[in-house]
Formats: sequence, structure tokens, C-alpha cells
Amino acid sequence: MTEHTFSIIKPDATRRNLTGKVNAVIEDAGLRIVAQRRIKMSRAQAEKFYEVHSERPFFGELVDFMTSAPVVVQVLEGDNAVARYREVMGATNPAQAADGTIRKLFAESVGENSVHGSDSLENAQLEIAQFFSADDIVG
Ligand code: GDP
Repeated sequence: MTEHTFSIIKPDATRRNLTGKVNAVIEDAGLRIVAQRRIKMSRAQAEKFYEVHSERPFFGELVDFMTSAPVVVQVLEGDNAVARYREVMGATNPAQAADGTIRKLFAESVGENSVHGSDSLENAQLEIAQFFSADDIVG
């Protein structure tokens, strides 16, 4: 089934000028970038986006990191896009990520791990709605 998922190219990747290289892995995996915008996340946006992690010990560090440099927010389209992009990203901790995945190729640590991807179709819809309107998505 064709789905949309939400992706973020995180500050560690934009800082190292890796946007194009990350996008090449995404496109080579058969996912289509149907919306994309480079933004500087506000603290309020980052805190809302990672609300589910607000009780975790790394929450402050995570918000500091996500607001430390620009990010690229994206909508990806494809067959089973949510699960497919999770595969393409690799494990949260790059040390455990499979060869060829974005995190294995580029990520620096479990915190600074280059990309975000929605973990369910329901979250994908909520996350896309936080950053894009329907008009922004051109499939
Ligand atoms: P994901 O779905 O693979 O991104 O992983 P999670 O939902 O478990 O965590 C969300 C994000 O929080 C991760 O992508 C990391 O950026 C960050 N994170 C997770 N675990 C840690 C940690 O132990 N330390 C730090 N600093 N950040 C973490």
C-alpha cells in the first residue's frame, strides 16, 4: 500500500553537509521525497515533537540537539513507506545499525543519529501535520 511517512535530516547531518547524501540513500531505496523544507526548529516545536520522550533522562539533551542547527523536514512516499524507511534508517544506535543504512553510513552516536522516521502510520500522519499542510505535499 502506498503510504506517506515523516522524515527529519537531523542537525549532525545538515552540519556536515550530508543532506544530498542522505537523500540519495532515500531515493535509491525507492522512496520519493514529496515535500521537503529546511527549518530551524524552535524549542517549542522540538519539545512537542518529542513529547513522548519528555520523562526520559536524555530529553533535555535531545531538545538541545534538535535545535542546535537547521534540520530538513520531509514527507516520503512509497510502498509501505513507514516500515521501509525504518529499514533504510537502521537501528537507533549506529553501532547496531545494519550495513548500508543511513545511520550506519553517517550517524555519530545514539543521540546524534542523522535521521528521524515515523514509527507507525498514525504517528506519521500526526508528525506530517505538525510541519506540513496538504498543499505542500506534491506526489
Ligand atoms: P528512533 O525511533 O530510532 O529515532 O529512536 P527513539 O524513538 O527510541 O528515540 C528518539 C530519539 O531520541 C533518537 O533517534 C535519538 O536521537 C534520541 N535518543 C534515543 N536514545 C538516546 C540516548 O540514550 N541518549 C541520547 N542523547 N539521545 C537518545
